Amino acid sequence: MNGERVPVLSLGGELAEVEEQLAPSFAVHRAEGPGSLEALLARQGAAIRAIVTRGRDRLDAAFLARLPALEIIGNYGVGYDSIDVQTAARRGIVVTNTPEVLNDEVADFAVALLLATVRRLPQADRFLRKGRWLKENFPLGPTLRDRTIGLVGMGRIGERIAKRLAAFEVPIVYHSRNRRAEVPWRHYSDLLAMAKDVDTLLAIVPGGPATKGLIGADVFAALGPKGIFVNVARGSVVDEPALIEALRSGTILAAGLDVFADEPRVPQALLELDNVVLLPHVGSATRYTRGRMGQLVVDNLRSWFEGRGPITPVRETPWPRQG
Ligand code: NDP
Repeated sequence: MNGERVPVLSLGGELAEVEEQLAPSFAVHRAEGPGSLEALLARQGAAIRAIVTRGRDRLDAAFLARLPALEIIGNYGVGYDSIDVQTAARRGIVVTNTPEVLNDEVADFAVALLLATVRRLPQADRFLRKGRWLKENFPLGPTLRDRTIGLVGMGRIGERIAKRLAAFEVPIVYHSRNRRAEVPWRHYSDLLAMAKDVDTLLAIVPGGPATKGLIGADVFAALGPKGIFVNVARGSVVDEPALIEALRSGTILAAGLDVFADEPRVPQALLELDNVVLLPHVGSATRYTRGRMGQLVVDNLRSWFEGRGPITPVRETPWPRQG
């Protein structure tokens, strides 16, 4: 990368390490909030050739239109439903994400959230802290022992979750649009049919239009009163009001949620429920894994601007370009 440093727009504070690594060869412009972003776009918009984003900043067609020289978007995360990839593809902008490097971290976490939800670990912790143990024992609760687990999604992360759950010796099945011949678990092409056959559902599919509201009232009814729902995918894959209603009415037993429809805002109704474990979207949030994700963002940008193409382009913006 000779000559002038390439102007990069950085969105969001979690990207400090990425910015540091880019600094020697890129001119990094950080937007600290809507006001700062506006000023930055007005001043630098025409020159910006790359964006680094946390995958939670909405990069829609109108936003991308303000960046005529944009060549590449480096998304710090595997999910990229916040980016209008169709517009990016039409404009010839490459979108990269960070697959694989977070698989094990997120799979460990998903199992932890499932167990925390089933065995009511946060509730037991609250019980002890409130001094209630001095007066009574924590009530007996549900178990993983008699459960059948249905994964919604059997991709890179879903498979790692299933492998871990297999060690718990519980039956595992999955739903996705396509059956994967190479995995040993039973496939359901119909989500509702799977929900009827299981009592525990764990979502690990991408967000975006294809999965919007995939899990709704009908699925919760099919899961039944013993039902436990864990979401480590995206808030958009669930009909959140239907989930709240299912938790309130006892249509299902409990839920463990790492993701929400309107993050970081979590509905008051969920905050008030005792049968739900709520986490602030921290599936991959360890120093180790975030470091690996950041490195991959940087490597993608370097590779691109050194003329070697992107390392991990998303499916919608393949490389080499097709057609
Ligand atoms: P993959 O692309 O490897 O797998 C996605 C899986 O979802 C595949 O089995 C796919 O199968 C299935 N799927 C996709 N669309 C649909 C659909 N419309 N209906 C049913 N199944 C569908 O993704 P990863 O495993 O790498 O990641 C999955 C998602 O997890 C990410 O996109 C991200 O949103 C989320 N995630 C959340 C994290 C957190 O912090 N909570 C951390 C990391 C990831 P098929 O195409 O055959 O349908």
